[in-house]
Amino acid sequence: MQGTILSIGNELLIGKTINTNLSIIAKTLYAMGIEVNQALCVKDDVHSIHQALSQIDDAFIIITGGLGPTPDDLTKEAVCAFYGLELTLHQKSLKRIKDTFKTMHKTMDNSNLKQAYFPKSAIVLNNDNGTAPGAIFQVGHQTIVLLPGPPTELMPMLEPVKTYLLEHLDFEVFHGGYLVVGIGESEMEHQLEGFYNAHKDVLIAPYAGLGEIQYIFTSKDEMALKNALKAFHKRFRDVIVGPYDTPLEHIVVQALQAQNKTISFAESCTGGLLAGRLINVPGVSHVFNESYVLYSDNAKIKRLGVHQSIIDQFGAVSNQCVYELSYQLAQRTGADISVSVSGIAGPDGGTKDKPVGTVFFGITHEGRTKTMHHIFVGDRQMIRQKAVAFALNLVIKTLT
Ligand code: AMP
Ligand code: MG
Repeated sequence: MQGTILSIGNELLIGKTINTNLSIIAKTLYAMGIEVNQALCVKDDVHSIHQALSQIDDAFIIITGGLGPTPDDLTKEAVCAFYGLELTLHQKSLKRIKDTFKTMHKTMDNSNLKQAYFPKSAIVLNNDNGTAPGAIFQVGHQTIVLLPGPPTELMPMLEPVKTYLLEHLDFEVFHGGYLVVGIGESEMEHQLEGFYNAHKDVLIAPYAGLGEIQYIFTSKDEMALKNALKAFHKRFRDVIVGPYDTPLEHIVVQALQAQNKTISFAESCTGGLLAGRLINVPGVSHVFNESYVLYSDNAKIKRLGVHQSIIDQFGAVSNQCVYELSYQLAQRTGADISVSVSGIAGPDGGTKDKPVGTVFFGITHEGRTKTMHHIFVGDRQMIRQKAVAFALNLVIKTLT
């Protein structure tokens, strides 16, 4: 099945808002096996919307934006006029909108009334985070979906859209995949040469993040999918850390919980990002008590007793310094695993021996301390994020 994504909004075309809905929807449809043929983006303008619709012949059209209460929001009216569909009051939606206002101790403004109008044949999609309901309706061979622009409203509303597609359209897709850490995308692609051809019935899409890559597998053939996943796992077991849809920090917390272990960090260049990422996980307090951000040399000396002589002789970005940091951290916090990070995030401070991107890691576990370093490529933020992924992977490797 082929589809078009149509984004509507003046703010998208003056560069004020990034069209993040496009990537969210594209990812969702791709994972369902719907091929997105084109993405169009037009102004909040009836003529522009009609012109866009007249170009689309795909069986599936998903339209976002312009469902608000203000006069510039005219998507629904323009789309229905184009297909010759009459809008009638949808009582349930009107009640929901009124109730939303009631919970905010406000009364509904007349301008919101139009948000409760839909074609008679439409399935109306509730919006739990706003006043604009969405809709799904059928016109000839085409399925049209209308969704509001704000991503926080749109994202949960994609769920009933997925359910509708699976129930009403004649296809079923299976997916799975892995999260891969500790290898670059180009190295992976190099190693995957031939793999794609050997698994032609499976769509394999890499989504590269900073220091981690999701490999998402989609197929209409369940057996082919299973075989591809099995082959991928066999080949890449060293760099697979978990399923593609489990965030790296969750995998770390799960591994710590399973072994009833605690963790602590001493962070220099990552400046708390590592602890922050772990604290994303609800329930992390079982495995995490405390952590240090030790940015200056002096802080490393004062808080964790790194010797001045180590800093003088080897520098704060060195094996010796991260060794001391993680060893002392373990002593003082009593954590089962302590990790230290010290590096040069740039843009200044690089040398011939230690260029920008050089990051040292120390890890103490069961009385043994190991150190290592890696040179990351990218700007300051990318280097810091990649160092976080590297450190989390180090913890996983140490635990398993
Ligand atoms: P709406 O009232 O449905 O037009 O939505 C308006 C709000 O949603 C604005 O704050 C926009 O910045 C945001 N928005 C609209 N379209 C998109 C999009 N394609 N991606 C991300 N945000 C969007
Ligand atoms: Mg708008």
